[in-house]
Amino acid sequence: MDITIIGIDQRKCAEHTDSKPYECGKCLRICDPAVFLMYNTGDLLQDRDEPRFWKIKPLWLSMCTHCMKCVDRCPVDAITVRSW
Ligand code: SF4
Ligand code: SF4
Repeated sequence: MDITIIGIDQRKCAEHTDSKPYECGKCLRICDPAVFLMYNTGDLLQDRDEPRFWKIKPLWLSMCTHCMKCVDRCPVDAITVRSW
């Protein structure tokens, strides 16, 4: 069975635009098996509409097909996908 590791350089991702992954989300949208999750790091009741509290996380790694679409699509080269 393949082991998959997906890394997100959160610094690069966060510096991408003023509104960060909250408005980018290109990795999220291009991934057919929906490996990524966008999640809120703040208080969901208070910070739901605050872009800076949102981050991208690769959650369902076992679903990854190693297509590399997310790597190619990320405008700031923030994603690495490795498997062995
Ligand atoms: S390599 Fe393909 S399947 Fe894996 S997380 Fe990226 S887009 Fe999704
Ligand atoms: S595509 Fe890159 S910059 Fe955009 S949300 Fe995903 S990791 Fe961040």
